[in-house]
Amino acid sequence: MQRLFKAATIWSPGAKNTSALLVNDGIVTAIGESAVESTYDEVIDLGDAFIMPAFADGHAHPLFAGREMMGPQVKNLQSVEEILAEVARYAATHPDDAWIIGGAYEAAIIDQGSFDSLWLDSVISDRPVVLYAVDHHTIWVNSKALEIAGIDAGTKNPVGGSIARRKNGEVEGTLREPAAIELVTKHAPVRTLAQEVAALKLATDALLDVGITVAVDAWVEKGMAEVYIAAAKSGELKVDMNLCFLAEPKKWKDSITYFQGLREEINSLDEPDRLRASTIKIICDGALSAGTAALLEPYLDQPDSHGLLIWEEDDLLDAAVAFDALGYQLHIHAIGDAAIRQALDAITAMARINPASDRRPVIAHSQLIDESDIPRFAQLGIIANYQPLWTYLDPMNKELILPRLGEARNNRQYPLRSMLNAGVMISFGSDWPVTSQVPLQALAVPVHRQSPDGYPANGWSKKEAITIEESMQFYTKNVAYQLFRENSIGKLEVGMRADFVVLDQNPLQINPHDIREIKILGLYKNGIRFK
Ligand SMILES: [Zn+2]
Repeated sequence: MQRLFKAATIWSPGAKNTSALLVNDGIVTAIGESAVESTYDEVIDLGDAFIMPAFADGHAHPLFAGREMMGPQVKNLQSVEEILAEVARYAATHPDDAWIIGGAYEAAIIDQGSFDSLWLDSVISDRPVVLYAVDHHTIWVNSKALEIAGIDAGTKNPVGGSIARRKNGEVEGTLREPAAIELVTKHAPVRTLAQEVAALKLATDALLDVGITVAVDAWVEKGMAEVYIAAAKSGELKVDMNLCFLAEPKKWKDSITYFQGLREEINSLDEPDRLRASTIKIICDGALSAGTAALLEPYLDQPDSHGLLIWEEDDLLDAAVAFDALGYQLHIHAIGDAAIRQALDAITAMARINPASDRRPVIAHSQLIDESDIPRFAQLGIIANYQPLWTYLDPMNKELILPRLGEARNNRQYPLRSMLNAGVMISFGSDWPVTSQVPLQALAVPVHRQSPDGYPANGWSKKEAITIEESMQFYTKNVAYQLFRENSIGKLEVGMRADFVVLDQNPLQINPHDIREIKILGLYKNGIRFK
């Protein structure tokens, strides 16, 4: 069945705007004049609307988001009192939950982001409570959780993680980085597959709702791929997903057989595009807000600290070489300039050892880059995956990062224009649930680099701003490239999949600050209406 879509503007990255699109069997078969002149069975006239390719999220954590949607809702709460009230409310309405796990609290509401277990104890002391911070590299727990995990003043920091202490050496209640977090979370009851699939469904519905049809799960640890496989088999997985298996220092070798088995099972599923697992996630450092991002020069507030490099150089190179040889793409979390340099060095050395191939490695966040390292991204064909919503002086940047970095370094964050000038490929992702998954809330931020209320007046490091067209391309076509799917999604051209969103306004023609108010009138995936 040939269907002709008409709208005021049909936009596709790098192409001339048109106003007609012919779709047959989920594929675009003609555009513009030639679409109108074709024969068709049905006309769908969308009037004044604006059509663009559906969004693809190149770095998100849908299953974490779905789990969070099922626990206490502490997101965006602005005081400890409000958080405690929500935890108490949730506990009272869920008396059968053996553990109370939720998120994600804003660490910036407390000086240094160090939260105390005693505060949680004041509302729940008989059951363990674990709350994730918005960076998801930090948890805040109550004393019961510490007791079950056997963590006390005598417990040393695990390699790659840290346990916050009070002045007298007692454990305070905040744990940072996976190595420390899992000391607690490994004791929590395992969620049932049905609970997990329900959480995933909440998450994928929330993605479709905002115009995303394809996403990357950038942190898949043991037991998570199984949830995606179950949802794909039952038909409940509505968003196309690419999974990144988490490789951990020292332990990664023991995971290879497990990853390979999962990849094989996923490759044998009926719909090959629905679920893929072709990427390995490597976390090189933490976050600037927590003082755990690895820096070349020390933190101002802790002159003896350069942050935390999670991997030893040799181990990282061995892992990169091994996974690359097995045909996995690398997706590396690196935020501080030392971590980014470590990632670049590892990719450089790996590419010398393994035979040449089309690798498209990704460095996610790429927040603070030493200037001399910028051209290396282009030389190595590395995609820098940025979170557009982060590219302004938000409260976390002002309260937690600026004092740690100082003005000059702080202002060097997110050098998008410098990266483009150096020929670097940029793709976008939300990092949801760390920050909002809504592309329309994020698209204009790297364009104005201002807070929602217009601060600072001239934009933060405005010389690094990009255009709205570039932003739209980075959230569509460039993520398709990151996913090796540039021949099927991310553009509206003949032969591409008819995945598109219908907007009530043209983002190219309105004040960038108004883009977040644009409404999604419809979402089509494979030519089928989803919303
Ligand atoms: Zn992430």
